[in-house]
Amino acid sequence: MSYDAIFNSALARLHAEGRYRVFLDILRNKGAYPNARCFAGAGASRPITVWCSNDYLSMGQHADVIAAMEEALHDVGAGSGGTRNISGNTHYHTELEAELADLHGKEAALLFTSGYVSNEATLGTLGKILPGCIIFSDALNHASMIAGIRNSGCAKQVFRHNDLEHLEELLAAADPAAPKLIAFESVYSMDGDIAPIGAICDLAEKYDALTYLDEVHAVGMYGPRGGGISERDDVADRLTIIEGTLAKAIGVMGGYIAASKTIVDVIRSYAPGFIFTTSIAPVLAAGALASIRHLKRSSVERERQQAAAARLKQLFADAGLPVMVSETHIVPLLIGDPIVAKRVSDALLARWGFYVQPINYPTVPRGTERLRFTPGPSHSDEAMIALTGALAELLAPSTLRLAA
Ligand SMILES: *Cc1c(COP(=O)(O)O)cnc(C)c1O
Repeated sequence: MSYDAIFNSALARLHAEGRYRVFLDILRNKGAYPNARCFAGAGASRPITVWCSNDYLSMGQHADVIAAMEEALHDVGAGSGGTRNISGNTHYHTELEAELADLHGKEAALLFTSGYVSNEATLGTLGKILPGCIIFSDALNHASMIAGIRNSGCAKQVFRHNDLEHLEELLAAADPAAPKLIAFESVYSMDGDIAPIGAICDLAEKYDALTYLDEVHAVGMYGPRGGGISERDDVADRLTIIEGTLAKAIGVMGGYIAASKTIVDVIRSYAPGFIFTTSIAPVLAAGALASIRHLKRSSVERERQQAAAARLKQLFADAGLPVMVSETHIVPLLIGDPIVAKRVSDALLARWGFYVQPINYPTVPRGTERLRFTPGPSHSDEAMIALTGALAELLAPSTLRLAA
């Protein structure tokens, strides 16, 4: 058996479709984000501007966050040294969980090593605890939720994205006696649209279903204290479980759920993805704690970020660029072809030092390949104007024909 031939043909398929992923080798310049150094190609690094980071508020560079991490490092060292059960339950972890529970107005919270793991472990475990459970899943849910739902072994019903009528149709058709869970996101990160959380909770009440909300792209970003869209819309108390990440707007790393004491206790006690892995490093917990505490008090970062996103959308629209309608901080530009998306991204980097990663299938459906911009509080107006000019040049019909 030629194993290598099989592996190579799997890679060749990606190349042929134009969706082979190339990671850009960069270093961010602390205190000067969005400036970074790029190590692609030969020779020394060169300066670039990052346009696609999920550290939306630059909290990964915030002085309070860095000071808290340095202090933790010098106080207790690098790793946690164990699972939560076996010596890895540090005071940083318990404090952070209390802070997260408070952020979402829930009784308790539980930390995981990432947002991906929190979704996979929680959904997978819930489904096993609830016999005969049916999970109703939004069509655009993140890969980590889909993986968790699959692991749960539950029957899955996919409703059309943000489509309340379709969701109700499926709920009404299901066995009234079966346990039900509706799993969805608040901000859908590739399109930048928002779920009707309150209306979904209405349906959940009507059909006696639990709700599971992924607030990964909204935590830190929306609501007076950064509690997400559920805080902004004042519906957090209606949700059974809120899930989030510490890696995006919070700027560090890790994932969590917030829910009732009982649900957190069940997941803590049964989820393999929580139990059998070392807890996050105390340094990470300390940094996340400082970041969340800051964002609970300060809205400046959120306001500046929203202003930058609105400005970039306007610049793109005025230049006639195919900016997708987005109600949020995300600015997607529809390209519709993986090879063109890659060429435009490569040219932006080579000629202007602008870094935006092309987004391809399976992250988005085929034919909707896009460039996804996440301007932050520190992208300057001049940079946004220069970016718009570069895109207008690259996406002009004459240039595109040359590229194709
Ligand atoms: C990024 C992302 C996750 C995973 O979070 P990580 O902390 O990066 O693992 C989960 N859900 C959604 C919607 C995401 O975009």
